[in-house]
Formats: sequence, structure tokens, C-alpha cells
Amino acid sequence: MFIAANWKMNLDKKSIQSFVEYLQSYKFSKNVQLCIFPPTIYIDFLSNLIRNIPISIGGQNCHHQSFGAFTGEVSAISLKEFGCDYVILGHSERRIYNKETNESIKKSAQFAIEYNLSPIICVGENLEQRENGKAIDFIEKQITNCIPDEFKEIIIAYEPIWSIGTGKIPHQDEIREMHKYIKEIILLKSKKKVKVLYGGSVNEQNIQEILSVNNVDGVLVGGASLKIKDLLAIYGSAVKHLEKNLIFKD
Ligand code: PEP
Repeated sequence: MFIAANWKMNLDKKSIQSFVEYLQSYKFSKNVQLCIFPPTIYIDFLSNLIRNIPISIGGQNCHHQSFGAFTGEVSAISLKEFGCDYVILGHSERRIYNKETNESIKKSAQFAIEYNLSPIICVGENLEQRENGKAIDFIEKQITNCIPDEFKEIIIAYEPIWSIGTGKIPHQDEIREMHKYIKEIILLKSKKKVKVLYGGSVNEQNIQEILSVNNVDGVLVGGASLKIKDLLAIYGSAVKHLEKNLIFKD
């Protein structure tokens, strides 16, 4: 189970420090991996603070070239050098505000893999596409054009744009259908099994409902990851959910 905490362009040194103080004494489960994605400028700072805590760190983006005249960008090499193991790619905010395309996301994913970062590739339809019954076709196109030709491990985050930061989440059947479909397309095209995270307005109230959907392998959390108590409540629910299921299977 994977929990990605995307801080976006939020928090500062002081708040990161007090965030980490709570994490010091927390008992993490080896079955639920927490990864924090801080603003790029704080990666080194956070990475030093969490040295003895069993959580990971990742970048919110990486460029599709390894070096060069790309003002303001960050490369996969730099992320790796500063302790990242993961990188979020193709977040809808970057697709919209930074005009990222499926093709550039695919190139970034290839660079990420080359430098031993696991890409978390985001896909998701807008409200109009959902209401017009075009969501499945749209996601299939995103997946086909974004995923690298060769990879050992990638993670997909299904994040309906209309659900991000709105408090609205899809019906359980809609999440189930989309996650199953994403796994099937990738298995067909790449012969690989992938983890699929759900992202969009996840909080401590809805986490159990979301995790109970088949084929949900974790969550990508934005707003609710900014407060340590909310994030740990989500994490704790994920641990409980797994324990309940293991007991049930036994
Ligand atoms: C996101 O930005 O990827 C996200 C899921 O945000 P939120 O949890 O705030 O909807």
C-alpha cells in the first residue's frame, strides 16, 4: 500500500520541521509506504530531517532532458542525488499551467527510470469528459501516450480533475472500473502489473471507503497531507484496512 503526500507549493522550513517532529515518534508499518513530495527547494532539507524515519521522499516533477538550458526546471539526476526515490509526473496542474503533454511526460518518465526514480504518472479526465461518457477513452489515450516503452516499475495515479481539491469523489463503481481498466491496458501493452493510486479529495473521512474498492493500491493526497494529524489519520486508516483484510483472508 502506498500513500503519496503531495505538498505542492506549500509549507515552509518552520512548518516542515514541526511536521517531522510528529513523525519521529510515529510507528510506521512496513506494509504501508509513505512518501512525501515537498516543494523542490525543500527536498534536501526534508531529506536530512527524515534520515532515521522509514518514509520516502519524491519530486513533484522532473524535466524531460537530463541537463541543459531549461531555466527553473529540475532534472531526474538532481532529484536522485538529493535523496528522492519517486517522482510525480503529469499532474493535472502541470498539464494545465505548464502545458505538459503526454509526449513530454513520457520522456520525463524515461529519464526518471534511467536515473532510478520510480515515476508516479498521473492521469484523469475533466468533468465534461466524465459527463459525456468519454472518461475511459480519454484515460486510455493518456496511458498509451505517457507510459515509457520499457520499465520495471511505474505507478499510475488516477486523479479525476473534477475531484482534485473539490471535496467531490467518484462513486466507488467509477473508481473500480477505472482502476481495473488502467491495469488491463498496461498489462496488455507492456505485459507488466502496475500499482494504481486514487487521488482527489482524499481525507480521513473517506479513506476507508476508497481503500475498500478493488484494485486501489493506495492514494495520492494533496490538501489533507498538509496537516500532520490529517495525514497520520489517513495513514493509520490504511494500516487498519490492511490488517482487517489480512485477518479476513486468514
Ligand atoms: C492532488 O492535487 O493530486 C490532489 C489529489 O489534491 P487533493 O487531495 O487536495 O484533492
